Amino acid sequence: MARIIRCECGYVARGETDDDAIEAIRAHMTTDHPALLETVGRQDLLGWIQVE
Ligand SMILES: [Zn+2]
Repeated sequence: MARIIRCECGYVARGETDDDAIEAIRAHMTTDHPALLETVGRQDLLGWIQVE
């Protein structure tokens, strides 16, 4: 089952594992929300993960 993390802007990051999904959302934040990237930690991102 895939993991998804829904960004506040509507972007959906997907990955096969928690780490894949976190990597994908971080890549998105790097380009779209660089300020957010600094305030959101790994534990926060883990809390956002949904199993699809
Ligand atoms: Zn976003």
